Amino acid sequence: MTRSSDIAIIGGGVIGSAIAWWLKAHFAFPGSVTVIEPDPTYAEGATGRSLGSLRQQFSMPENILLSRFGLEFVRHIRNHIDLPEDETPDVQFRDGQYLFLATEAGAEALRSNVATQQATGSPVALLSPDDVSERFPWIRVHDIALAAHGLRDEGWLDPHALLQAFRRGARRAGAAFLQDRVTAIRCADNRVSELSLAVGETLAVGQVVNAAGPWAGAIAAMAGIALPVVPRKRTVFHVTTPTPPTDPVLIVDPSGVYVRPEGNGFLTGSSPLPGEPDPDGGSLDPDYDQLEGRCWPALANRSAAFEALRMTGAWGGFYDYNSFDQNAVLGPHAEITNFHFANGFSGHGVQQAPAVGRALAEWLLQGRSVSLDLGLFSHDRIAANRSVVERGII
Ligand SMILES: Cc1cc2nc3c(=O)[nH]c(=O)nc-3n(C[C@H](O)[C@H](O)[C@H](O)COP(=O)(O)OP(=O)(O)OC[C@H]3O[C@@H](n4cnc5c(N)ncnc54)[C@H](O)[C@@H]3O)c2cc1C
Repeated sequence: MTRSSDIAIIGGGVIGSAIAWWLKAHFAFPGSVTVIEPDPTYAEGATGRSLGSLRQQFSMPENILLSRFGLEFVRHIRNHIDLPEDETPDVQFRDGQYLFLATEAGAEALRSNVATQQATGSPVALLSPDDVSERFPWIRVHDIALAAHGLRDEGWLDPHALLQAFRRGARRAGAAFLQDRVTAIRCADNRVSELSLAVGETLAVGQVVNAAGPWAGAIAAMAGIALPVVPRKRTVFHVTTPTPPTDPVLIVDPSGVYVRPEGNGFLTGSSPLPGEPDPDGGSLDPDYDQLEGRCWPALANRSAAFEALRMTGAWGGFYDYNSFDQNAVLGPHAEITNFHFANGFSGHGVQQAPAVGRALAEWLLQGRSVSLDLGLFSHDRIAANRSVVERGII
């Protein structure tokens, strides 16, 4: 059987659901929108395994503006997403501050990032080691040359709640969510014409969006398109300490380890350092060695408060990792112009979902990203070997 949809979105995580919401609920697109998502429990997707942290501290103005819109959106989500009273969205946004720490080697880059953030209107202050000691006496600064402190407008939220808010809002406005998996993409005359579904049916399409998160590279390959977005495992640990600091912040340590307050403890993890192995795919089982080998030594070096950590939980999740330049790939393909990308967020896709959803809806309906100029994230840059470097990747 062949069905049809004016716009088909492959993947119903936070990005795919946000795009559907903007199309149907905000822009009141009168055509049909179908989100194809195999797993309504979202057990393995990046969104449900994310930390949901949101910051202003990026090195590129575009990433700052994308996340800032995300902040505005989640703070006022009840004004944006119209749902019945018993489904009122509550994404549990908590204000929290980021503190980026740099050694001498990273100080110049941090200084330059903060100059960009301040020029873009972000309330971020540079702190000397003495300033850090005065403000956060529990942090050791013996190896620190400079710090950047977000004064407000940063924090964290429940990513699955944000996904569900977009999904419910989109469905209420008329988007269809199809529980199925795309298995093949048929192109004719430089256009996607049809998607094959695991159930054996096909879906004839007007336009298509790849919103398949860590699996976006595999979806693009079905259309004969090279997209270097792969699943890369990251492990998150929940830890407690008998001597917690009274005013904890989200620390991004020069070692690459981060730590953030969560409930009665902390969440911590890290990404591989340049040159360390970072294989694609694999299982989602936590990589427990990282706690002993990376996180604990870095945290104990940073504060006596973290010397006696106890692990109380851990999970693995796949980053939707852009192995070309760790930045988003957005907008239409140059030749197969009805195939659109919303991929490659490499660790910051939840906070950017509201702005990315709006941008993709604008591309689909108006042919360009109107609210923010996001042309530099185009897919063309990959073939042209023109990387867009964001220095604030965690
Ligand atoms: C451990 C971890 C921590 C993170 N921390 C943060 C953070 O602090 N802040 C932040 O902003 N971001 C963070 N991220 C990144 C963020 O989670 C992702 O960038 C974001 O969730 C991507 O959303 P998505 O909808 O594109 O992907 P997903 O949520 O993975 O959704 C993609 C969907 O595509 C579906 N799919 C796959 N194949 C097919 C197919 N063949 N057909 C149809 N559907 C298919 C999947 O079932 C899945 O539900 C983190 C990620 C991880 C793993």
